[in-house]
Amino acid sequence: MHYQSTRGGIQSIPSVQAIIQGIAPDGGLFVPEQHPLLALEEIAALVPQSYQERALSILGHYLDDYPPADLHECVYSAYTALKFGSSQIAPLVKLTDTAHILELWHGPTCAFKDMALQILPHLLVKALRQAGETSEIVVLVATSGDTGKAALEGFRDVAGTRVIVFFPEDGVSQVQRLQMVTQEGGNVHAVAVGGANFDDAQNGVKAIFTDPAYQARLLQHGYKFSSANSINWGRLAPQIAYYFSAYADLLKDDEIRAGEAVNMVVPTGNFGNILAAWYAQAMGLPVARLVCASNENNILTDFIRTGVYDRNRTFRKTMSPSMDILISSNLERLLFELAGRDPAPVVDWMGQLKREGVYRVDAGVREQIEAQFWADFCSEEETLATIRETYAHHGYVVDTHTAVALNVYGKYVQATGDTRKAVVASTASPFKFNASVARSIFGEARTAGQSEFALLELLSQECGLPIPEGLDRLQEKPVLHRAVVAAPQMQAEVSRILGID
Ligand SMILES: *Cc1c(COP(=O)(O)O)cnc(C)c1O
Repeated sequence: MHYQSTRGGIQSIPSVQAIIQGIAPDGGLFVPEQHPLLALEEIAALVPQSYQERALSILGHYLDDYPPADLHECVYSAYTALKFGSSQIAPLVKLTDTAHILELWHGPTCAFKDMALQILPHLLVKALRQAGETSEIVVLVATSGDTGKAALEGFRDVAGTRVIVFFPEDGVSQVQRLQMVTQEGGNVHAVAVGGANFDDAQNGVKAIFTDPAYQARLLQHGYKFSSANSINWGRLAPQIAYYFSAYADLLKDDEIRAGEAVNMVVPTGNFGNILAAWYAQAMGLPVARLVCASNENNILTDFIRTGVYDRNRTFRKTMSPSMDILISSNLERLLFELAGRDPAPVVDWMGQLKREGVYRVDAGVREQIEAQFWADFCSEEETLATIRETYAHHGYVVDTHTAVALNVYGKYVQATGDTRKAVVASTASPFKFNASVARSIFGEARTAGQSEFALLELLSQECGLPIPEGLDRLQEKPVLHRAVVAAPQMQAEVSRILGID
């Protein structure tokens, strides 16, 4: 399989190169040249398989220039029972007759980013070897909280790589910050960006990436950039696998017949997770609707409903911070696909977004979006209420992001009457956002003034759930990363870390 840029400015390249480069030199994102198509029998064949076998089968279609033995090693090194708590990796839990929760947070950092970031370093290292690359790879990450920790953990002590994570100083939870600043490993750096939100950090990283003069300087010092943000195809491809896995589990549990279409409900920020579901559908997975759930940063709700993407609005800090995003980078891939794989309109729209902060897609693209997607958003009060009600009615504890998805799914069913089976992506452990979760379940009076760590204990005891290993005793670990820089100083900080003047 070869990959081209959504902006049309490059010759197509194999997946190994797409993964090494991360983002195309013309500023676009890499997209596969075709959609591999799976027949229903091939999907049914996944039913008796383990998660690893399913992932290998899906990834094999997209990463076919990797030697099969390499790919096998990547998949089996990433998705281990040791790292994911059990051999199930991504279990599907039945919540109601229609809603099935796809738990994507059993990895070491307790959020779904592990599904991709546990395997990406392995894919990258194999790719580097295959390409004969001798430079040390510097992985730059902008994070709204979860990606940063998952990247630090995934790349920790991976030979030939360095990872530098930038996070908005006041834009992450106490647990998320501690997870990052206590990260061990000889090749990892976490840097707070003062006075910034996620978009500022992401723009800073993109600017560093697309500065050819700076890249040339780095190369002289034996360094080359890559990206672990969800714009890297090596992150997106592994996410496609779990939608197939969820469908296979529904078949296995006799919840659906082969070929029966299901809805996919995804709490969305940078549009990576839901785009992976779209790719799964393009590969032949029977998906009826993709339900895009946003928090109060509801730019995608407006876009899917009107065709106008307008970032000229107030950025809100919510209790689902991993979705506090106004520029959803991966949307560019969808636009490219729906515009008939024509880069010209994509270049226009992205240019308008950059210059004016707004663009309007044409009628053809808009109609397809309306047919394939449905969108709504969930307010802060509704997030709390959904956590409380889900626990009261089903004895099941969800985190704030998953609550956004469940709330919007409820609105979808009410608006459409569509009671097809639905897979609801659950993107974080409730313990990761325990302050909000505890507040909604136990009430303000019992939780006010308590630290996130006291609340971890409370939640664990009252709900009878063990505290995940990655979050236990976090407050006792030594802080190893103390750097704070302003957004315009991000590049200088990279130079400082790498010892370049
Ligand atoms: C990253 C993240 C999301 C948003 O996923 P995207 O792929 O960026 O749309 C949702 N929930 C959690 C917990 C996350 O970490």
